[in-house]
Amino acid sequence: MTKPEVIADPAAWQARCRADRDAGARIALVPTMGYLHEGHLSLLREARRRADEGGRRGIATASIFVNPTQFGPSEDLSRYPRDLEGDLAKCAAAGIDRVLAPADPRAMFAPDHETWVSVERASEGLCGASRPGHFRGVATVVAKLLHLTRPHVALFGEKDFQQLAVIRAMVRDLFMDVEVAGMPIVRDADGLALSSRNAYLSAADRPRALSLSRALFEARDAAARGERDAGALRARARERIAEAGARVDYVEIVDPRTLAPVVRAEPGARMLVAAFVGPTRLIDNVSLR
Ligand code: AMP
Repeated sequence: MTKPEVIADPAAWQARCRADRDAGARIALVPTMGYLHEGHLSLLREARRRADEGGRRGIATASIFVNPTQFGPSEDLSRYPRDLEGDLAKCAAAGIDRVLAPADPRAMFAPDHETWVSVERASEGLCGASRPGHFRGVATVVAKLLHLTRPHVALFGEKDFQQLAVIRAMVRDLFMDVEVAGMPIVRDADGLALSSRNAYLSAADRPRALSLSRALFEARDAAARGERDAGALRARARERIAEAGARVDYVEIVDPRTLAPVVRAEPGARMLVAAFVGPTRLIDNVSLR
């Protein structure tokens, strides 16, 4: 298990990745905000696998950067959990070769930074409605990371389903030469979707947090039994989450490609929820098959 090369300076990172690409290497990138868990690790292992595809020299890379521009003024930027040493050990175990870890956010967003990537339609509604500016921050930092790294493939989790749609739209609209790979949600044994923010949950919060996945699974089972009424499925899920003592932000059923709300939950429709457990905002989603 070799330690990954850790680079803090974006320009040095860009030079290293450019040299690899020029030498014919295949590059995979996993952007993260760190405090890595099994969900991130599934992306990192897949990055290793995808980098090695095709018989070329593979370089599996990850970034660890808590991006200030995707946090709202009243959100948890200053207390977002961090553990760079632990993260690097996990990257090593997953076979990651190189990690971009800017020590200072100004390395990525200089004080005179003035360019933003705004993905309009995909950022509307859902998390975009309750977190104004969030997806502008996400799209901008991911655009920077893709330009710095120029990976052949970049991997993202379906856990952040709207984020994945925003990034796919950005890559399509800006003709970015990269494959975007979406990866399934990794859950705890009890069903809770893994998230760095689960670190905020107390033992008493746990049943409240679990109500999100329980509500989604119940809807998935009802849809599998033939329930097609999106309004009824949403109402039941809202009830379940509220009963458990969490505060619903949204419960939606959408077309998985356009994220437009649907009236009938046809197989493949995606159900997404966001809810507050105390001050902690959690999200989760499931495909209604
Ligand atoms: P974050 O560090 O929260 O920005 O997440 C980095 C990447 O990991 C994003 O593409 C997330 O969608 C993905 N991710 C986070 N949690 C999970 C999970 N439970 N399962 C799969 N992917 C995840």
